[in-house]
Amino acid sequence: MIKTPILIVGAGPTGLMLSAQLHRYGAPHVIVDQKTGITKLSKALAVQARTLEQYRQLGIVDAALGQGFVANGARFIINGRVRAHVPLGEIGKGLSPYPYLYILEQSKNEALLHDYISANGGDVRWDAEVVDLHKNGTGYRGTIKRGDGSSQEFECDYLIGCGGASSFVRHFLQLPFEGGTNEQMFFVADLEMQLELEKQGLLLVINKNEFLAFFPMEGVDRYRVIGVLPPSIEDLENIPFDLLKTHIEENFGFEGKITGHSWTSRYKVHHRIASNFRAQNGFLAGDAAHIHSPAGGQGMNTGLGDAVNLGWKLAAVVNGWTGTNVLDSYDEERRPFGKQLVHTTDRAFGLIVSKSWGPRFIRTYILPRALSIILKFGALRRLMFQTISQTVINYRPSSQSDGSRFKKIHSGDRFPWFEWRGGNSFEWLQGTGYVVLCFGGAGALKVEGWSGPVIEIVVTGASAKAASAAGLPVTGCVIVRPDMHISHIYAE
Ligand SMILES: Cc1cc2nc3c(=O)[nH]c(=O)nc-3n(C[C@H](O)[C@H](O)[C@H](O)COP(=O)(O)OP(=O)(O)OC[C@H]3O[C@@H](n4cnc5c(N)ncnc54)[C@H](O)[C@@H]3O)c2cc1C
Repeated sequence: MIKTPILIVGAGPTGLMLSAQLHRYGAPHVIVDQKTGITKLSKALAVQARTLEQYRQLGIVDAALGQGFVANGARFIINGRVRAHVPLGEIGKGLSPYPYLYILEQSKNEALLHDYISANGGDVRWDAEVVDLHKNGTGYRGTIKRGDGSSQEFECDYLIGCGGASSFVRHFLQLPFEGGTNEQMFFVADLEMQLELEKQGLLLVINKNEFLAFFPMEGVDRYRVIGVLPPSIEDLENIPFDLLKTHIEENFGFEGKITGHSWTSRYKVHHRIASNFRAQNGFLAGDAAHIHSPAGGQGMNTGLGDAVNLGWKLAAVVNGWTGTNVLDSYDEERRPFGKQLVHTTDRAFGLIVSKSWGPRFIRTYILPRALSIILKFGALRRLMFQTISQTVINYRPSSQSDGSRFKKIHSGDRFPWFEWRGGNSFEWLQGTGYVVLCFGGAGALKVEGWSGPVIEIVVTGASAKAASAAGLPVTGCVIVRPDMHISHIYAE
């Protein structure tokens, strides 16, 4: 019998990040997955700035940055002509230490998190499928089955469903997965191609009725290609490479460019969100809670963000640092963002794939012009970066935010990133508890209802000047949560 305060079901990126967070805060838990190890497939490629900021807190960002590359730009080819070029290399300069879109395969992200868990004395129980679940007082009990037919019972206080789109835990918790499924069948293929593209650039090719998206991959002439499967292939069980090659070459003008492939898969695009991310002491995170089109490269990043948000709260409750009320804020903070994401990615994807004349007109004529305009204006460019990079996410309406504000900075906002000669603001936020920053000689405020770690920092000199230039008080105090969001801001 396994007895654990927290059982995580699923060790994809979301479950691995949650386990890593619980290790970071020293909270006992067990993580299981029916697979025999981390994924070997490339799957998600885009890693957003907010994820890199969270990797930085874990101390794994340098390892991540050593294995992938920055996407330099995105080019739009519409009806055979280059209509827009979006430089991405430093699009968020001054807003994040990682002002770009980073390309690193999901398998490598999973490996980084798995290494962190191992380095902290933990492990994933692989080949362990949760097949049975029951309520057990305020907790849960159930059965784990192994590939050899053996099984083991478990009991836990908190049950976390990180099992992906068809989550067993979500079904058990009877949380409806609201939304729908797009009609078209899509393909994803990792191809070797000779394209005259700028190094490390993204490419969107739009024809009258079709589209292809190209993402550069590590290695020479390797691209992830996503598109709609043509009717001739749609019903075949496996995608015949030669037919797919012919489709891409003939319909999009890439004759003779494809030289090989390493992976193809098909999928339907869903847009669904769970009616609640929590039912009593059961929680959902990642694809178990929300799924949407891959437009914008958000899925894995959002699951990682869910895990960071839930991780410190669960650890604080299990470690006795705070009351269980903090857990209410998980659904309050993450579900509104998930809902908005499902809605916007669905609309963006609809715009790209729809055959109706309206969306076709918009993507052919309006979109390239709109992009050119956005890029000319610094404020719009920054907003675009903040939205896609997920650095814009704030938790202002949450019960963990007290409504305090100073000028443009509110309780619930991500703590801003800024630099000064010899330092930067994120160096203050590397610890595993709350951080109380005191400016201009103001006294430190107490973190109410919290007996866990607290670091007090008296900010002076160049760092205080930089903080005030970034909109923080000259004299006052800011309390920052373990996940780098502001819980209280006070100015004298
Ligand atoms: C083609 C494609 C491209 C994508 N590109 C991007 C991108 O560029 N950027 C991005 O952010 N996202 C992208 N995504 C989405 C991303 O891959 C997913 O959002 C991400 O994998 C979700 O992670 P997860 O951990 O929540 O779920 P999953 O990765 O699905 O992991 C769930 C895990 O739970 C395990 N499990 C399930 N049930 C049980 C059970 N009963 N017992 C034990 N274990 C169980 C499974 O074995 C699995 O390992 C893409 C997806 C696709 C298909």
